[in-house]
Amino acid sequence: MQWETVIGLEVHVQLATRSKIFSGASTAFGAEPNTQACAVDLGLPGVLPVLNEQAVAMAVQFGLAVHADIPEVSVFDRKNYFYPDLPKGYQTSQMYHPIVGAGEVEITLDDDTTKRIRIHHAHLEEDAGKSLHEDFQGMTGIDLNRAGTPLLEIVSEPDMRSAKEAAAYLKAIHSIVTYLGISDGNMAEGSMRCDVNVSVRPKGQEAFGTRAEIKNVNSFRFVERAIAFEVERQIELIEDGGKVVQETRLFDPERDETRSMRTKEEANDYRYFPCPDLLPVVLDQAYLEHLRSQLPELPADKRARFQNELGLSAYDANVLSGSREMAEFFEEVHRVCGDAKQAANWVQGELSGALNRENLSIQNSPVSAQQLGELISRVLDDTINGKAAKQVFQALWNGQGDSADTIIEAKGLKQVTDTGAIEAMIDQVIAESPAQVAQYRDSEPEKRGKMIGYFVGQVMKASRGTANPQQVNGVLKEKLDALL
Ligand code: ADP
Ligand code: MG
Repeated sequence: MQWETVIGLEVHVQLATRSKIFSGASTAFGAEPNTQACAVDLGLPGVLPVLNEQAVAMAVQFGLAVHADIPEVSVFDRKNYFYPDLPKGYQTSQMYHPIVGAGEVEITLDDDTTKRIRIHHAHLEEDAGKSLHEDFQGMTGIDLNRAGTPLLEIVSEPDMRSAKEAAAYLKAIHSIVTYLGISDGNMAEGSMRCDVNVSVRPKGQEAFGTRAEIKNVNSFRFVERAIAFEVERQIELIEDGGKVVQETRLFDPERDETRSMRTKEEANDYRYFPCPDLLPVVLDQAYLEHLRSQLPELPADKRARFQNELGLSAYDANVLSGSREMAEFFEEVHRVCGDAKQAANWVQGELSGALNRENLSIQNSPVSAQQLGELISRVLDDTINGKAAKQVFQALWNGQGDSADTIIEAKGLKQVTDTGAIEAMIDQVIAESPAQVAQYRDSEPEKRGKMIGYFVGQVMKASRGTANPQQVNGVLKEKLDALL
């Protein structure tokens, strides 16, 4: 039996407002427990929520970025349940009239093809507090700093068909929200978490299978691993004659498995009703147009422009538009050196290699975009050759000079293109290598091309890497062939 995987994601994005969605308390990460929870966040009687306009603007910008319908009216509802980290006894969310309607996101797959994933809707809600189980023996601590932090929950249609597609979708959402600047997208700090809905069905069958929902997966890698495990579990279960039950499961990264948490609750368990403390949100056309005019260039547009206007490959365009910081760095390098292909090669090659080795993000690159652009310019105008360029890069990386030019000067790396100087070095190498010259003379003409490498190496060494390799090659061939 051939099986097909069906996946839908609910992504929670923490919006980068300075204060909470319904109160003035700070949202800064990492403060002492309970120092950033005010009377509203604590659900004390007699206080009223006030909607943070910035959260609304950010949600709408996301909607515009994914080409979604933005309804004129959206409404906040109370989702009622009890939990120690929810002192109000309900979460303020949007159940029936979300702020963002249906939209779509383009994802890029490994073979550089693209696919559209539909977004069902996105709604605003508040986060709950945190239960701290580890710090207190036999007790649970409650930190309400996170209570009331604005979240945008983005619900996809069940359009993904593999773990790779799900990861690509999550990456696309991550890059849209970080391009927009509406979230820091920091998954390790919980700024982006997702619930993964997974089901399987026999290939060719139209009806979806029963799904399991894996809660709170917080890294791209875990999304893939959780899906891989879950798909296998469901297929095995069905093939053994069992049935998948609709339930909520938890991914355990240490054991690399998902475990049942509880059977799925129904919407009516929560007794949703419109929050009487908050007015419906009404957005007029002028406001939407104002927000639309402030949208930056988005990842998909940047990718298309990198390909169509700069002539980059689909692969390069995708990598370089992957994050806003990466794109901005690349564009600055390109602006300085004027050669898109070279800029792309250096950013993805030498620079990314060095960043990965030292586990640095591009924002913290010791070599600035300006410096890298100038370095590339010196290769393009033949001041230095490729080999010397790598030395200059290393020196810039190590802080041994503040520009390519000062390093080239200090290290004497200027490319030697003076024919007289090159000829002199070649004559000397030939004079010192009688055995290799004899070998060259005696070998088949078609093998001589390969043998020339030895002489080029010697001349480059004699020039301390500064000779122009093409020139060395040409002159050497002439001189050696003259000896035949
Ligand atoms: P609920 O409100 O119970 O969470 P929804 O219908 O809103 O359920 O769906 C939640 C998520 O589950 C959506 O992202 C949707 O795409 C996904 N989903 C729904 N049905 C399936 C299915 N059979 N297999 C995989 N994912 C599904
Ligand atoms: Mg759900």
